[in-house]
Amino acid sequence: MRLARFHADGRTRSGVIEDGSIIELTGGDPLGCASACERLDVAKGGVSRPLEGVRLLAPVVPSKIVAVGLNYRAHAAEFGKEIPTEPMLFLKPSTSVIGPGDEIVYPSHMSRRVDFEGELAVVIGRVARDVSVGDAPGFILGYTCFNDVTARDLQGRDIQYTRAKGFDTFAPVGPWIETALDPLDLRIESYLNGERRQDASTRDMIFNVYGLLSFVSRVMTLLPGDIIATGTPSGVGKMKPGDAVEVRIEGIGSLVNTVVQRRTCT
Ligand code: MN
Repeated sequence: MRLARFHADGRTRSGVIEDGSIIELTGGDPLGCASACERLDVAKGGVSRPLEGVRLLAPVVPSKIVAVGLNYRAHAAEFGKEIPTEPMLFLKPSTSVIGPGDEIVYPSHMSRRVDFEGELAVVIGRVARDVSVGDAPGFILGYTCFNDVTARDLQGRDIQYTRAKGFDTFAPVGPWIETALDPLDLRIESYLNGERRQDASTRDMIFNVYGLLSFVSRVMTLLPGDIIATGTPSGVGKMKPGDAVEVRIEGIGSLVNTVVQRRTCT
């Protein structure tokens, strides 16, 4: 099932995408309750609209994004880093989220090097705390594409990642949540202006999706709608205003965003 959020008739709505249409979910946002996983079964059955006629939004509004650094061996190698022995976590703020087609704003007032990082995003469906690896699948609503936009020069300069990863618009998510997907061997690609720059499989992760969810849930409680960004493969590179960047994941689809110059206040 493909779950999306969209804007129509002056309101934000949720829907299921089927055969080029989006069927509105009744009873509001399925993620706005303690257990989205169970609620999805009963929510379908509202108005159907042609998909081309609606503007998709970020499919989820997370309370937090837990991101994982250096989770692909080849990416660790391209930065000359050791393979981590446990997941390296950092947070991105909810205010950095944008949706498919939205603009990534280049923070030229602070940075001269802004990179794309294509990643598989795990969307949490139930409150998750101290979850075992074996139980992890039951806490996942689904998967979507994610771009962990990074001001690389600031990442090197600051002791931690808050500024480098936290600018507004630095977390493109979408275009929808695929709820029926095996995440362990999916092709993941990134394109910059139509040219392929990243091409890997999620089977190359050092810590897989279920191991990551279990690990994170032993640190902090994950809420419905929270995102785990599972790390990027090798091939990351810089973007500039005017560029179009696409993250494409097998079984999900494509997340496309453009980069724009920051409009400063005078
Ligand atoms: Mn990343």
